[in-house]
Amino acid sequence: MTSFEDRLETALAAVRTRGQWRETRPAALAPGGRIARGGRTFIDFSSNDYLGLSGHPLLAERAGEWAARLGAGAGASRLVTGTLDAHLALEARLAAFKGAEAALLFASGWQANATVIPTLLAAAPGTAVFTDRLIHASMHAGCAAAGARQHRFRHNDLAHLAELLETHGKAAPARLILVESVYSMDGDRADIPGLAALALRHDAFLYVDEAHATGVLGPQGKGLCAGVAGVGLVMGTFSKAFGGFGAYVAGSAALRDWLVNAASGFIFSTAPPPAVLGAIDAALDLVPGMEAERAHLAALAERLRTGLAAQGLDTGGSTSQIVPAIIGAEEAALAASARLAEAGLLAAAIRPPTVARGTSRLRIALRAAHTGDDVDTLLGALHGALR
Ligand SMILES: *Cc1c(COP(=O)(O)O)cnc(C)c1O
Repeated sequence: MTSFEDRLETALAAVRTRGQWRETRPAALAPGGRIARGGRTFIDFSSNDYLGLSGHPLLAERAGEWAARLGAGAGASRLVTGTLDAHLALEARLAAFKGAEAALLFASGWQANATVIPTLLAAAPGTAVFTDRLIHASMHAGCAAAGARQHRFRHNDLAHLAELLETHGKAAPARLILVESVYSMDGDRADIPGLAALALRHDAFLYVDEAHATGVLGPQGKGLCAGVAGVGLVMGTFSKAFGGFGAYVAGSAALRDWLVNAASGFIFSTAPPPAVLGAIDAALDLVPGMEAERAHLAALAERLRTGLAAQGLDTGGSTSQIVPAIIGAEEAALAASARLAEAGLLAAAIRPPTVARGTSRLRIALRAAHTGDDVDTLLGALHGALR
C-alpha cells in the first residue's frame, strides 16, 4: 500500500466515524412518481423529475433518433469539430425560451457553475463577489476555482446584501452577485425583481441559478427571471424538470462570446452528444404547454404544506414544489426518513453540513405524477413516524 492509499483509508475511516458514510445504491424510475429499489416499489419524494419528463416517450424517442442519425458521441470539443448544427439550433431555441440574446450549452449544471464563475471573474480581476448563504455547492466550487473571497449575505436578506454592497462593493472595480431563484433544500424563492433592482443600483452583475425553477415556475415554465430586466446571467439545468441531462447559460451575446473564448470547462470538454440534445429538444416542445402539470404541482405543494403545518411541522419559507419538513435533530430526521421507507415512501433526510445545525429535515420533492392521495399517504405516514 502506498502512503497515499494509507491516508485514503484513514480519511474513509473518519467519514464512517462521523456517521456520514454515503454510498451509491441502484434504483429504477417507475410510473406514477414511484421508484423501484431493492425489490420494492416506493412513492418517491426524493428525485427532481418534477414534470415526469425523464420517462416521457417523446424524449427517449428523439434521443434515440438523434443518436441513430448523428452518432453516439460528438467526437470532439465544441471549438474543434464537436459543434453540430443541432448544438447551435438548440442554443438558439433556448435563448428564445429564456428571452435572452444568446445561450450556451454545458455538460452539467455543476460543471457550468464551476467553470462559468471563474471565467467571468477572469474578465474582471478584483471583482467583489456577493453570495447568498445557501448557494449550491457548484457555485462554491466556481468561487474556489477563482480564488475569490465571498461576501456572504444572510439567506434572501436583501437589506444585508445592500449593506455588504455598500461596505465591500464600493471600492471594487466591479461587483458580482450569485443567487438561486429557488433554493434546493428550502424550496423558497429569491425576490428576483428586488435583487435585479439592487444590482442595478449598485452596478452589480446578477447571476441566477434557476436549476429548480426551470420548467416548473414562471410563465410557460421559463423560470423566475423571465421578463425581469437587470439579470445578467441565467443558468439552469436539463437534469431536473427537463427530465434529461445537461445545462445552459443564457445572457448577452458578449457573455456567450466570452465563455466560448475563455471557459475552460467549455473549451476542453467534449461537446454534449446528440442523444442528450434530442432529449432537451423534445422537452422544449413539451414544457411550455405543461400548465396543467405546473398547476397540479403547486396544488400538491399547498396541500402538503397545510398538512405539515397541521401536524405542527415547520416548512420554512417553501413556496415551490420542494417542501422541507423541518424536524431539528439529525437523528430524528434520519429516523423519520427510515420509518417512511419502511412504509414505502422515500424522502431524503438532509443534515448538516448541507443545512444548518438544528434544522435537519426531510426534503420532500413533489412530482406532477403524484396524486393528492400520495400526499395524504405521506402525511399519514409521517404522523406515525414522528410519534
Ligand atoms: C442540481 C443543481 C445543480 C447541478 O446541476 P446538474 O445538472 O445536476 O449538475 C446546480 N445548481 C443547483 C442549484 C442545483 O440544484
